[in-house]
Amino acid sequence: MIVKIFDLQREYESLREEFMRAFEQVHLGGEFILGQHVKRFEEAFADYLGVRYSLGVGSGTDAIRIGGLGCGLKKGDKLVTTPNTYIATTMALSIHGAVPVLCDIDPETYNMDPERLEEVLAREQGVRLCIPVHLYGHAAPMDEILELCKRYEVSVFEDACQAHGALYKGKKVGTFGKAAAFSFYPTKNLGCQGDGGAIATSDEETYGNAHRLRNYGQTDKHVHVVEGFNSRLDELQAAILSFKLTRLDAWNEQRRKLAALYKRELQDTPLVLPQEKPWAYHVYHLFVVRSKERDKLQEYLKTRGVSTLIHYPTPIHLQEVYRHLGHKQGDFPHAERAAAEILSLPMYPGLREDEVLYVCDTIKAFYTNLHSKIE
Ligand SMILES: *Cc1c(COP(=O)(O)O)cnc(C)c1O
Repeated sequence: MIVKIFDLQREYESLREEFMRAFEQVHLGGEFILGQHVKRFEEAFADYLGVRYSLGVGSGTDAIRIGGLGCGLKKGDKLVTTPNTYIATTMALSIHGAVPVLCDIDPETYNMDPERLEEVLAREQGVRLCIPVHLYGHAAPMDEILELCKRYEVSVFEDACQAHGALYKGKKVGTFGKAAAFSFYPTKNLGCQGDGGAIATSDEETYGNAHRLRNYGQTDKHVHVVEGFNSRLDELQAAILSFKLTRLDAWNEQRRKLAALYKRELQDTPLVLPQEKPWAYHVYHLFVVRSKERDKLQEYLKTRGVSTLIHYPTPIHLQEVYRHLGHKQGDFPHAERAAAEILSLPMYPGLREDEVLYVCDTIKAFYTNLHSKIE
């Protein structure tokens, strides 16, 4: 059996008619940039989340860039986030002169640990933005983060690129901070057929800033008040996202069902399974397990047709690009240990139960083999 980690072909087959309809609607409408489809999607996505505004941009990375700058982050300001996130979380803003300061994680959820955050905020001068990442689809502990950031006068900007529809204490993530970033990269919980992203905010000023920044700093046609970018969600992607948004909750439920099956089948193995805090509604963008024998397990699965990935193998502080920050191995032990042991198993809404069972049986066989070799 071949089990892919994601399979967009399967999605295409099941949504073919809707894709064709969206393609036709956009062409018949004759607008391709910042037209009715983008406007309609932005309104629908803001409604879905429960914020005043959403703003379509070119990618999740641009949502962090434009959202972060829109929140007022300036060259030389510090931002704090975790080391075990996708590099875009920091790079989107460090390229504009912001300085990343890192904070270790809670090893159970892989999210920002508020105790470590407090140490960072007490120690560092000039932190202006805190970027909790709702990693793998599980909400970061927002109450503690918001309370600390309020005390230290730091704005909160959520990286919700992996957590469309995830809840924290019953409320959607991406609605807690001053603003939030979402990615519509094709394999995300809500993905388009290429690059796309959105900023969510209820803050008028941040919205206005971001609105200008995404379109050459323009307030009116040919009126440019600041320097900006060309980073716009395009009409075709917006039309596709509008119909996919109506399926998002059902897809997240499907992910949760598959996650429950994985957990039931793998509970007696030595794997550390993903946790869901009582206050969280996990949307399992990724199903990430931990094993001391991770590399061997990954190889074993690969030779039996199961593809897996590592999100992420190298923490940000050990990346070449950030060598100037002066970090070394051992600075963030929980993030480093996670990087060495985590493995993302196949997970997407179209994954079948028999495929999950095959992955689980293969994992059990791996451990049976491993233990009989040790004895
Ligand atoms: C996907 C992702 C991004 C970047 O989004 P793109 O759309 O690929 O630019 C940023 N942060 C996190 C946590 C992500 O998962």
